[in-house]
Amino acid sequence: MIIVLKKEATEEQIQHILEKTTKLGLKPNISRGVERTVIGLIGPEDVLRVTPLEVFPGVENVIPVLAPFKLVSREFKKENSIVKIREGLEIGGKKLHVFAGPCSVENKALMLSIAKKVKDAGAAVLRGGAFKPRTSPYDFQGLGEEGLKYLKEAGEKYNLATITEVMDSRDVELISKYVDILQIGARNMQNFSLLKEVGKLHKPVLLKRGISATVKEWLMSAEYILSNGNFSVILCERGIRTYETGTRNTLDINAVPLVKSMSHLPILVDPSHATGAWNLVGAAAKASVAAGADALMIEVHENPEEALSDGSQSLLPEKFENLMKELKNIAKAVGREL
Ligand code: PEP
Ligand code: MN
Repeated sequence: MIIVLKKEATEEQIQHILEKTTKLGLKPNISRGVERTVIGLIGPEDVLRVTPLEVFPGVENVIPVLAPFKLVSREFKKENSIVKIREGLEIGGKKLHVFAGPCSVENKALMLSIAKKVKDAGAAVLRGGAFKPRTSPYDFQGLGEEGLKYLKEAGEKYNLATITEVMDSRDVELISKYVDILQIGARNMQNFSLLKEVGKLHKPVLLKRGISATVKEWLMSAEYILSNGNFSVILCERGIRTYETGTRNTLDINAVPLVKSMSHLPILVDPSHATGAWNLVGAAAKASVAAGADALMIEVHENPEEALSDGSQSLLPEKFENLMKELKNIAKAVGREL
């Protein structure tokens, strides 16, 4: 259930509604938008049969939200949400942004050199995993805190925001000190204790779609983060597992407009993990922008042959630079900017 407040509703009236609904055993969540203020109610709604909220002063309308995800749904918020990363960097508006960098932070020299190249090509966010979710325990697991330091230093030097994956609730605090955006990886999309933990932060979260998750399950995971108070969530489509073996995953391009119709949250596409092959990344990236993605995340490496993870899907910096030029035209064609 969503309560839409009148534009002229006073703070006193709002507080009264919050107190009353809490007393009834509901959990109110207030969202103060530019256009209007709304209160989402979670909990047993039948109590509202005896307490009709429509008659409360300050209330304009009461909307039942049928979707199981409430705060994430379009019914809750009609306008697109814009996630602010830092001053001048917002995801979900007219301007598209590209996140780029190596799969893993491997060493300081690589981070500094890639940061410069992706920045020159027009990227806004530097990526790099320091805690890596590897299928095999014998593969490179990431540099941990040392990697976070290199990522932060490179980001600061080239004025790029930073993103890295958090795999464990116990690392949330540490990682938050180093980066601007926390990434929840595909394998952890339904790690509910981790979702609750990042829900308590005042920091943007990139929530990747699980390897075999439906769009509904993915949005329910986002609901965990929003319902814990953090509304700065960007969804990430990174391909799903299908019967196709020609590519690492299958990019679900449908998910972009589908998510936009179901949710107000911005969506980023990761064409690197979606395809698993550097020569397919460009086409998948262009298709994503054409389909309405708000941002992209692309793996870039100077020497993919020697990369400690995901070399086969990493673009050389020159290829990334060319792709950025092509993406500008696609963005323009769909009324966006890059
Ligand atoms: C990554 O971004 O490097 C990563 C491990 O992605 P995913 O969780 O989508 O597999
Ligand atoms: Mn990777």
